[in-house]
Amino acid sequence: MDTVVVGAGPTGLVAAVALARRGHRVTLVDDDPGPVTDERWVRRGVMQFHHPHAFRAQALDVVRAEVPEVIGALLARGAEPMTVDPTAAPPNDGELAPGTGLRCRRMVVERELRRVADREPGVTRVPARVRGLLAERGRATGVRIGDGRLDADLVLVAAGRSGRVGEGLRAPEESSACASAYVSRQYRLRPGAEPGPQNSVLGAVALHDGYTVVVFRHDAGVFSTLIARSVADRRLVGLRHEAAFDAAARAIPLLAAWTDPARAHPITPVLPGGRLHNTYRGQLDDAGRVPLPGTVFLGDAVCTTNPIAGRGVATSLMQVERFLALVDEHGADHVATVLALDAWCDEHLRPWFLDHLATDAAQAARWAGEDVDPTRPPTSDLVVSATEVDPTLMRVVGPYLGMTAPPGSLAAVHPRVREIYASGWRPSVAEGPTVGELAELVSSSVPVPATARA
Ligand SMILES: Cc1cc2nc3c(=O)[nH]c(=O)nc-3n(C[C@H](O)[C@H](O)[C@H](O)COP(=O)(O)OP(=O)(O)OC[C@H]3O[C@@H](n4cnc5c(N)ncnc54)[C@H](O)[C@@H]3O)c2cc1C
Repeated sequence: MDTVVVGAGPTGLVAAVALARRGHRVTLVDDDPGPVTDERWVRRGVMQFHHPHAFRAQALDVVRAEVPEVIGALLARGAEPMTVDPTAAPPNDGELAPGTGLRCRRMVVERELRRVADREPGVTRVPARVRGLLAERGRATGVRIGDGRLDADLVLVAAGRSGRVGEGLRAPEESSACASAYVSRQYRLRPGAEPGPQNSVLGAVALHDGYTVVVFRHDAGVFSTLIARSVADRRLVGLRHEAAFDAAARAIPLLAAWTDPARAHPITPVLPGGRLHNTYRGQLDDAGRVPLPGTVFLGDAVCTTNPIAGRGVATSLMQVERFLALVDEHGADHVATVLALDAWCDEHLRPWFLDHLATDAAQAARWAGEDVDPTRPPTSDLVVSATEVDPTLMRVVGPYLGMTAPPGSLAAVHPRVREIYASGWRPSVAEGPTVGELAELVSSSVPVPATARA
């Protein structure tokens, strides 16, 4: 079967190699020119490319099944195994057992996937922008690129969160803005320097009143610092300026420890994040039909969630895995594949999207000054925070954190969590500037008013 894959992000790369290894002729189309060097890749079409990523076990398990040589390559590059669920077995150093995630830069993961795709005999990579889908007699027959066309029996649209290919075919997406906006920067530890203080599987997390700080450890001594602020708080928009970000990094104790010039030096500019949304869009049209048989949407083209939980590559590759199983089962019956994939995503992925809708709405309300209402079912973030008071909750919370149990599983501990909040307890706030003090620091570090959009 001739397949065109639109988009060579993690979704498109894994899908292309996996289909080629099943005997398909695959054309992988993306207009990104690729890495300039091992350490430099501009990647204009993917806003989040250099922002911190951590890779969950669900993503790595699919990579191990479909592109196993990438696992060893990543470990050789200094990627570090991690286990998100504290109740699961801890990872072994230097080995990536099933059920284990990775701390690694997104650039490094994607570069290794791309290397394999480029060597794969059944995959041809075409550097072009797809202008639209081609159809005849109600079926997809390929894609339009520039003045030319690529013919195919099957078109996979893995064009990411802002891809426009196939727009208008599916029923409108469900979407809501995330509560937080990102600004981050990558650093490298100096030779012989120890990492800074750690309290999380990612590296370190500090919850402040009005903003959150995360240090993501990556591969080979590289780490990212991230400040997630309320999207509604325009006073912190100026954090995207280097002077303001550096001043904040010196003032926030966790960041000050990690970014001490004696310990580490920056290797990227300060990276502002674009607008973030939780989105879900199934495969079907308004009438519940497969809109253009022979077209399948995968990855961020189906579901995006607040990146603070680092689920995107996992939910993307879980779709790829399910799609491959359905192709094995249904062969050239693409309608059956799409209907079954849509039903699976609705059952297994949409609950994560809905979980983020609820937690983002609650987070936005709290950042706007609302208190927790213990008479209402707690959102998942409040359940996770309550483990600080009652660590036995981790029995149920751990599998949720590790995504081996769905969001609904947390209902089992709601009564205990409500009791905790009804007692007046609230999640502890880390030492450091208040959000107002941070805003003052930003305005005194940025001489001109910050007019850039969040
Ligand atoms: C700030 C941020 C941080 C994140 N952190 C994490 C994390 O820690 N862990 C995690 O698992 N996920 C994280 N994610 C989510 C993750 O980045 C996405 O889930 C992932 O990029 C999805 O991969 P994809 O291949 O579906 O899409 P993309 O990575 O967006 O790739 C799409 C590709 O399609 C190409 N393309 C688009 N249109 C066309 C066209 N017309 N013609 C040709 N090519 C086209 C683009 O050039 C691109 O290469 C984060 C997201 C954000 C925004």
